[in-house]
Amino acid sequence: MYVNYAKFQKSLIVDQFQGNYLKLQTFQLKIIHNILPTRRSLFRAKLSDSDTCRPCQTESENLPHMLFQCNITSAFWIAFQQWWCERTRRAFELDERNVNFGWYSDTQFKDILNYVALVAKYLNFCCFQDNTAVTFDRFPPFLSNKIETLRQIAQKKTNS
Ligand SMILES: [Zn+2]
Repeated sequence: MYVNYAKFQKSLIVDQFQGNYLKLQTFQLKIIHNILPTRRSLFRAKLSDSDTCRPCQTESENLPHMLFQCNITSAFWIAFQQWWCERTRRAFELDERNVNFGWYSDTQFKDILNYVALVAKYLNFCCFQDNTAVTFDRFPPFLSNKIETLRQIAQKKTNS
């Protein structure tokens, strides 16, 4: 049986590329529909012994708390904002609505900002899920890794 390996490999690369985006897009969709698992939702389903947010140990952990309201997460976003402004020399409004749903103004940078913020939200969510510290210094290497993966996939895609 004849197998077109080049075509097969190319389709795998396209799948990888789309899969990478799809994972983040799906994640954002789950934020919009408020269907990501939190300690509160797990507690209500009797799958957790407590609904208390583990990083701050004070509030109930629902999605708005996890993404922005928790003092640990808000410290992350303040560091994120500073990091972004240092690199782009552009300011953006840091508020809960923008963090959760994205920025619509500032057309020149909003696509990059929304992508980078989405990666940041995903990292924060993973830290909450794994009960590991939510600190900003984890973010730049995490983002670089994500971008490097996309770059390699894109290069393979154009080379094949
Ligand atoms: Zn908290």
